[in-house]
Amino acid sequence: MTFEQAPDGATLSPERSGFDTLLVQAGYRSAEHNHAVSVPIYQTTAFTLETTERADALFGFESDDALYTRMGNPTVNVLERRVAALHSTGEAPEPTAIALASGMAAVTYALFNAAGRGGRILSTYRLYGGTLDAFTHLYPELGLAIDLVTDADDLSAWKSAITNTTRALFVESVSNPLTAVADLQALANLAHAHDILLIVDNTLATPYLLNPLEHGADVVIYSATKALSGHGNVIAGIVIESGNFDYTSGLYPQFTQPLWFLRDASDRPRAILDIFPANPFCGRLLAVHLNYLGAALSPFDAYLILQGLATLSLRVRKQVSGAEILLPWLQSHPHVEWVSYPTATDNAYRELASRYLPRGAGGILSFGFAGGEAQQRAFLDAVKLWSYQANIGDVRSLIINPAQTTHIELTPQARSIVGLTSNTIRLSVGIENPEDLIADLKQAFARAFT
Ligand SMILES: *Cc1c(COP(=O)(O)O)cnc(C)c1O
Repeated sequence: MTFEQAPDGATLSPERSGFDTLLVQAGYRSAEHNHAVSVPIYQTTAFTLETTERADALFGFESDDALYTRMGNPTVNVLERRVAALHSTGEAPEPTAIALASGMAAVTYALFNAAGRGGRILSTYRLYGGTLDAFTHLYPELGLAIDLVTDADDLSAWKSAITNTTRALFVESVSNPLTAVADLQALANLAHAHDILLIVDNTLATPYLLNPLEHGADVVIYSATKALSGHGNVIAGIVIESGNFDYTSGLYPQFTQPLWFLRDASDRPRAILDIFPANPFCGRLLAVHLNYLGAALSPFDAYLILQGLATLSLRVRKQVSGAEILLPWLQSHPHVEWVSYPTATDNAYRELASRYLPRGAGGILSFGFAGGEAQQRAFLDAVKLWSYQANIGDVRSLIINPAQTTHIELTPQARSIVGLTSNTIRLSVGIENPEDLIADLKQAFARAFT
């Protein structure tokens, strides 16, 4: 079985279409859906098997027609094909994607898929708070051990932490919330020298600003809750695989071991690689993780993401320009201690940003609030236009104090390793008028210091 690839047709192949065209059109042919212009929502649990012969093909993974919505749904499949097409490098093989019910499900399933039994994941402290806490507590409880590099900018630290049980390196391309930029190509080279995977959480960068597959990553994951959908109305995740990785080195028996439930028509057990030779990572996510752990994305949520996704480039461009307007204003503000944004002149990641983020560094910037705790609370309580909430990448501009909220899980030690101070304020710039956003921050600072 192969996953249906992103669109054929004269103008819609990834090789021939630009990114913005793919955002609107990839992965959908209206003629296959009663000529519906808008992607229909297939709100159904199951799909009729019709004949026993067809049932055999469906249950034998020999057809990619839908069978049961936990394992695939036409609305969800359009989203998967569209997001996969956005990650095309223009060279074969084409990437494949699997959508899931949340970004956390995407992180968890991808890492468990890579590790197999007894494998370890090597990562850093520069992670979304939930991810980091899951690494330290839940994953080990479930048998997945994580090793963390303290200085993520030091390639030799990564190198010396790789052991013969390490199965993947895992990083955020642009970290949440302090926007450290990872040197993806260097990490990919290191991973591949050890025959192991590089898995990248590209949530902050978005595929518009950065395609990790172009820099050697093997697997990319997203919280589609954030900028991919962009309207603050859905929880979703997505995993993309390049199709380039070789799972036959002996390190990944979970892809090569024959399994009874994957048997062929003559009852011969088959391996994941036999059934999904072009996309074993997504194939196993589908056949094992979605099948047995069950975080399936609902068709309606896939529809909402498709709706939002169409304007990804427009939104991100506006967010980047908003962030670039806010940056100097914040830098010169008397109640701002420091500003962290990759393209800022004093930023440690400026060089990596110019290499990996030539279209801009995104809409997330953080700053140090110069004032006491009471003033910081007064400031956050005083914002009117900025929305105080735990989300990013929305059309609305959002503000939060991560050390006390989204990254509450970080221990004082982890906080000092990543540089997350208690006075850190994270901004997620939306698409409103920047002058209104500045005016609101201005009045909130004024209120905090009266
Ligand atoms: C939000 C986020 C997640 C978790 O995604 P959910 O959709 O909230 O489950 C994972 N990684 C990063 C970088 C995030 O920002």
